Amino acid sequence: MLQINCPWCGLRAEIEFTCGGEGGIVRPTATETLSDAQWGDYVFMRKNPKGLHHEQWRHSSGCGRWFNALRDTVSYKFEAVWKIGEQTPAAAVNHVHTGEFK
Ligand SMILES: [Zn+2]
Repeated sequence: MLQINCPWCGLRAEIEFTCGGEGGIVRPTATETLSDAQWGDYVFMRKNPKGLHHEQWRHSSGCGRWFNALRDTVSYKFEAVWKIGEQTPAAAVNHVHTGEFK
């Protein structure tokens, strides 16, 4: 069984976790200035890469906390995990989203 390393609890079984989708997405601040297309992009458009992907995960059946993960979508291997607000690990720097809305 796959084990995921919760930054607070350590290695736990995959069934204790919930994937929250793409990580690093920040809600736009000036929503009244967005076009329908920009708002649609923010709400619906997500990356779906083959390979390393920045995601947010929750240890839903454990501590309940959210954290960032860099996961390979092909092998399912977690390359790095880190707490929300914590400095991005070196292995993940080139794959983490900036949080800027375009
Ligand atoms: Zn935990």
